[in-house]
Amino acid sequence: MESAYIGIGSNIGRKTDHCQRAIFLMGRLEGCSVRAKSPFYRTEPVGVEGQDPYVNGVVIVDTDLSAGMLLKRLLEIEADMGRVRRKKWDARVIDLDILLFGSRIIKTPDLIVPHPLMHLRRFVLTPLLQVAPDLVHPVLRRSIRELAGLLPEDGQAVETYGRS
Ligand code: ATP
Ligand code: CA
Ligand code: CA
Repeated sequence: MESAYIGIGSNIGRKTDHCQRAIFLMGRLEGCSVRAKSPFYRTEPVGVEGQDPYVNGVVIVDTDLSAGMLLKRLLEIEADMGRVRRKKWDARVIDLDILLFGSRIIKTPDLIVPHPLMHLRRFVLTPLLQVAPDLVHPVLRRSIRELAGLLPEDGQAVETYGRS
């Protein structure tokens, strides 16, 4: 059994509903249970111009699945919910990223864990801080609280949005 930390995002349509639906579907996966949910946040898109704001959150999923199998299931949920991949960082109905998988370090062609950009993203660290402030990043060896404190002050607006 491992605890997987999943980043959730949506910036098309009924964004909060999409995030809620994805959490429901993750809870129904065989060998998975949702142990904790962060609040949702309204966040400014990072790295792209002219897109709608995102709704972002993080959940902790306790799972018997391997990380590779969990990723496969998450990509299936994205596809079932109507996500179409066009170009990198395009607007999306739902995005489910494996941020951390216990303290494992994974580098395969399809899966890199810890997620390589997580420590630079306020839209990830702010919700993660609510569910796992003392969790230590296994590569950077700093807690989520420390990593959040290292983010630059400017840019990446993140506002509280509601409970998940
Ligand atoms: P970013 O990774 O910068 O957040 P993105 O989420 O928009 O970008 P996607 O198009 O959703 O990127 O994913 C592209 C591929 O990334 C996936 O098909 C998957 O194989 C790969 N990938 C690598 N590491 C991870 C991870 N930790 N979590 C989810 N997908 C990952
Ligand atoms: Ca992502
Ligand atoms: Ca993704």
